[in-house]
Amino acid sequence: MQRLIFLGAPGAGKGTQAKLLCEELELAHISTGEMLRAAVAEGTELGKKVGSIMESGQLVPDDLIVELIAERIKKPDCEKGYILDGFPRTVPQAEALGAMLGSAEVTVVLFEVTMEDVEARLANRRSAENRADDSDDVQRERLRVYQKQTAPLISFYEERGLLTTISGAGSIEEVYGRLKQAVA
Ligand code: AMP
Repeated sequence: MQRLIFLGAPGAGKGTQAKLLCEELELAHISTGEMLRAAVAEGTELGKKVGSIMESGQLVPDDLIVELIAERIKKPDCEKGYILDGFPRTVPQAEALGAMLGSAEVTVVLFEVTMEDVEARLANRRSAENRADDSDDVQRERLRVYQKQTAPLISFYEERGLLTTISGAGSIEEVYGRLKQAVA
């Protein structure tokens, strides 16, 4: 069973690469951002709690996300393995995941990109997807939140010997080639 965690700044290409790899290896694609956007669109209790937080570019509270993931990874489509795309995003989330998985094997893939790459990709996405949290100001806030709250996970996983870093620069195909080598 393959358990992968994709780590990287917003716009680093995690989501695109996760979709490709999940399709090829028949893994479940677990994107907390997509799950939360679905909850907002459906108007569920969770959706009502998180909508305005997401629109501001902040992170939703750890306990809500940890509960969401704990339920999700129990589903039958996760039996062959899964990719966590956008989770964990804070040290407490990573600790909670560690407690959930115990000694189970996990590989963390860091997509390394420059700020120029990230800005160019986010500008593209802004015109293509029309996401409420993809305006200029909110994107800047999301990057700031990433640096402050999520980037510490790089050393968290490095210290535990779980981190594999690949360059996220170049075309989708180029990055995918590197990813496949890294997780083979
Ligand atoms: P994403 O599509 O992964 O960029 O996520 C969109 C938004 O959903 C983020 O800006 C957060 O507000 C929220 N979100 C997604 N995943 C998490 C997480 N693991 N922890 C906290 N908030 C999250």
